[in-house]
Amino acid sequence: MAHAVVVPKSPKSVSALIDAQSGHAAPPSLAHYSTQELYRELIARMHEDPDRDGLLATPGRVEKAMSFLTRGYTQNPTQILRGALFDVDYDEMVIVRDVEMFSLCEHHMLPFYGRVHVAYIPNGKVIGLSKIPRLVEVFARRLQVQERLTRQIADAIHEAIEPRGVGVVIEARHMCMMMRGVEKQQSTTVTSTMVGCYRDPQTRAEFLSLIRQPTGSASL
Ligand SMILES: [Zn+2]
Repeated sequence: MAHAVVVPKSPKSVSALIDAQSGHAAPPSLAHYSTQELYRELIARMHEDPDRDGLLATPGRVEKAMSFLTRGYTQNPTQILRGALFDVDYDEMVIVRDVEMFSLCEHHMLPFYGRVHVAYIPNGKVIGLSKIPRLVEVFARRLQVQERLTRQIADAIHEAIEPRGVGVVIEARHMCMMMRGVEKQQSTTVTSTMVGCYRDPQTRAEFLSLIRQPTGSASL
């Protein structure tokens, strides 16, 4: 009885992709696959059947969801703040606390989420209050690390209005820590960036004590 020769389906052999000039193997380009085809392939590699009913429309949904979760790349902080900067004669602390934040960690592409607290002391200019949450969104809706997110929010405010100082604190929970690996489910990661007068221990302490006060009934 003759044996059937089974040729396993394999990805294009690397040797076929050797760059003629450098002699180095070029990584196979996936650019000609659609995003949905790529998600379909990922589902199959999770030992799932991308053709079963519940998963048929999943690549399309994931594409849409991921494009929403990373839309910060197409937004410009300068443009968002334009028209929302006001001259004032006010030099007390402006504080916007408990801004909801949802982001994706760049190491695992899993969510981290929590609250952002922003404070600054104006030096002639303030930012319209509703713009602070929008500014948080621009940087949060990207692949991030919490430390950089904190710094980028502080830098954007600093560049826009050059206040006497700016402080940003983020308290967040990371699904990559909660769902896998160390499984530290209750731990919160706190990061802070203090610029200008917020490096002064007294100003910094005042800011930190204000964000730790229980939220009043007027707030959500
Ligand atoms: Zn992570």
